[in-house]
Amino acid sequence: MPRTRSPLTPANKSPTSLAQKLAQIGLRNDWDFALHLPIRYEDETRITRVRDAVAGVDCQVEVEIFHTEVTFRPRRQLVVQTRDGDDVLYLRFLNFYGSQVKQLTPGSRLRLFGEVRPGFFGVEMVHPRYRLVALDESVPEALTPVYGTTAGVSQTAIRRVIDRALETLSVQRQFDDSVSASMRSALRLEPFGESVFALHRPSPSASLSSLAERTHPAWRRIKFDELLSQQLAMKKARAARDAKSAPVMKPRNEISKSMLALLPFALTDAQRRAAAEISADLAKTHPMQRLLQGDVGSGKTVVAALAAAQAIENGFQVAMMAPTEILAEQHYRKLSELLKPIGVIVTWLTGSLKAKQKREAIAAIGDGTTQLAIGTHALFQDGVNFANLGLAIIDEQHRFGVGQRLALREKASMVEEAHQLMMSATPIPRTLSMSYFADLDVSIIDELPPGRTPISTRLLADSRRDELLERIRAACSAGGQAYWVCPLIEESEKLQLQTAVDTFERIATEFPDLRVGLVHGRMKPTEKNEVMQKFIANEIQLLVATTVIEVGVDVPNASIMVIEHAERMGLSQLHQLRGRVGRGAKQSACVLLYQSPLGALAKARLKVIYESTDGFEIARQDLLLRGPGEHLGARQSGAPLLRFADIERDVDLLDAARDTATWMLENDVTNADKHLARWLGSRQHYLKA
Ligand code: ADP
Ligand code: MG
Repeated sequence: MPRTRSPLTPANKSPTSLAQKLAQIGLRNDWDFALHLPIRYEDETRITRVRDAVAGVDCQVEVEIFHTEVTFRPRRQLVVQTRDGDDVLYLRFLNFYGSQVKQLTPGSRLRLFGEVRPGFFGVEMVHPRYRLVALDESVPEALTPVYGTTAGVSQTAIRRVIDRALETLSVQRQFDDSVSASMRSALRLEPFGESVFALHRPSPSASLSSLAERTHPAWRRIKFDELLSQQLAMKKARAARDAKSAPVMKPRNEISKSMLALLPFALTDAQRRAAAEISADLAKTHPMQRLLQGDVGSGKTVVAALAAAQAIENGFQVAMMAPTEILAEQHYRKLSELLKPIGVIVTWLTGSLKAKQKREAIAAIGDGTTQLAIGTHALFQDGVNFANLGLAIIDEQHRFGVGQRLALREKASMVEEAHQLMMSATPIPRTLSMSYFADLDVSIIDELPPGRTPISTRLLADSRRDELLERIRAACSAGGQAYWVCPLIEESEKLQLQTAVDTFERIATEFPDLRVGLVHGRMKPTEKNEVMQKFIANEIQLLVATTVIEVGVDVPNASIMVIEHAERMGLSQLHQLRGRVGRGAKQSACVLLYQSPLGALAKARLKVIYESTDGFEIARQDLLLRGPGEHLGARQSGAPLLRFADIERDVDLLDAARDTATWMLENDVTNADKHLARWLGSRQHYLKA
């Protein structure tokens, strides 16, 4: 069988540069092109008279040129005057090539595609797509596909390349189906090759709406295939991991038992369950890859500490990494409290340590003195080498970038594959996590520790701040504490800093009788910690903060959370912020200050956060409001992977794909590999982060 060849063979003037441009958008081989499906379709099967064109609706018209000139008023542009019977239509091109001026000569006939509307000179089309045609040239019978492309590659060019790839693959008989006929009929799926062709070259009878909305049976098949490739890849990655060996760390109930005895509370059932799942994984011979999900305040830290204890009592080192220094410091403090009395050696390592301390920390980690290392991503930077890392715990894992997670993984493999425990307070709806993260195990803490009084949430228009100020004064005078979260300024870090400082000054003036503090992202970590320590000790009563306190901070005495310009924040952010309070026995309140008028989306978001305190429900609503792409981090959303399917809308296909993937890997490896090669080809590395 001939080798799959790039469809970009000579004929073209500068094939290399075209190929390079296409490679940049991920189009390299025949399958990349064949699966580069139209983003939409245009109906060129009809010609509309210029006089019948409707404003705001794209249509196709046919005209004859009678005058072409480059004018300079109101600005430099190419203006082409054309005629459709008695009607005159102006074409305007603000960017154009000399070759276009030569091509668009009087007497030529053009088919134009775009919107006809009133303009500067008269009825006009601006930058229409056009094609020179002969008199009486017939119109296409089918819809015209429009492809995603890149600068300098026209629709005509990309269409030609795709057509050539489809021809090559057909001639080579490569469109054989990776899903058997019996499975297809059980799943009501169209054949693969026919589906590909149906989307690139729709039949004249195909409905524009089912193609546009991607409900056409051919789309269904393509979405299924895309999900199948993703499930196959993840399951394979998982199998590869299962084939690796990791330290076997059986529960010895030494350190963990002493630790539990020291806890001032009993574990919740949910915590116990999660801890047992993790404990069982650690005793296995292959590396654990588990995500521990639990709402804010559900008590993930203790569960992580138990896992750490099990590793340590087996003689292995544990690394615990948090995304911010405040959070890492808090873990350091809490875990030291739990584990130091039992004699565990805990080491603190972040970027802000003084050179000497850093050297000492790195040495202790390297020679195995350290049993538990806690810090930021500094833990996994060059120069840090663990003597015998057994378990890596990553808190708020979604906050780390892909690069950092890869660095972590590489670090671990230098020793042996370490077990990995990831924690996240951003719940992913269960259906999604089970189906979508085929390469992760998930433990869920779905219960809050007892004795928490529910947080009351209030929405307050900014105009009613005065009432709020009174309330805060009263609460703080009675020994309570409050957070005041500054408005979020996403556009500029400098503005954000300014806003934080301004807010602090304003609040300090408004509360001359209270001890007010400020913490923001631009402060040095040591300064941040100092402020947090004062807040923990109730030396600061009212803490003005940017969203740096969003994750993890735990100060049980703080019972009021004020969020300014709540309408600017996302749902999970609001939920996280609100979770900073309601940690003690006191009745807590979260006040969402908003600036009216509210936009529709902001209103919908605030309504969700007002009505629900359940992180999973909020995540579900968030998904509905925003779509999964934004909900999960870049790698998790599979942004580069899922082009056609939508994991929420196509959940039935996702389930089918998952089951099919399992079956194929057990029974039909040839087709599984073929499927993966087609769909992922050179892209498989995306999945490994
Ligand atoms: P998160 O899951 O958000 O990381 P933490 O681990 O910080 O939550 O726990 C939140 C608070 O709840 C801490 O003060 C912790 O000591 C407390 N806590 C954890 N588990 C329990 C429990 N079973 N009973 C009572 N309090 C608990
Ligand atoms: Mg936490």
